[in-house]
Amino acid sequence: MDQVSVTAGLANRRHRPIGAVAVLAPLSALSRNPVAITLAGEGDLTVSAERGKNGKVWLTCGCAQGQADGWCKHRIDLLCFRYDDAPDLGAEDRRAFEQLVGGTSLQAAGQDADRALRAFEECLDIFDARRPKRVVGRDLAKFTDLVSDLASCASELEDALGTLRRLLERA
Ligand SMILES: [Zn+2]
Repeated sequence: MDQVSVTAGLANRRHRPIGAVAVLAPLSALSRNPVAITLAGEGDLTVSAERGKNGKVWLTCGCAQGQADGWCKHRIDLLCFRYDDAPDLGAEDRRAFEQLVGGTSLQAAGQDADRALRAFEECLDIFDARRPKRVVGRDLAKFTDLVSDLASCASELEDALGTLRRLLERA
């Protein structure tokens, strides 16, 4: 296998193709429930994941952003199976967590929020880089286009974070 197809294979394993249905492991098949994940470099923060009978997942984090906003980057990263904040997490814990959240609506919402966050950040960078210095002038139309792109990215982000926040609420 050449390098290109090796890389493509890895990417495919990491990112499910769009439209594929993620398999939800039945509650009785979970190797562990709940699963606790300790975050490094954040004091003593722990993210806790627990699946209930109806497929509802409780994913809690006591960080400042989580308390203020009802969602946090830690949980989005974990729902996308990125473990930069938890470098000491063992393979077994990782598997148990992925089995617990994989294929749930919370995971889908986390991945949507992740995509929307990236799109918004990209859009904001483009806005900062390209906005005309003199707004009211010949470039006003360009400014309007940039603002309208930014507004639609912001509105998609608001929707995605709203859905994620609702699913993260303890109920
Ligand atoms: Zn957090």
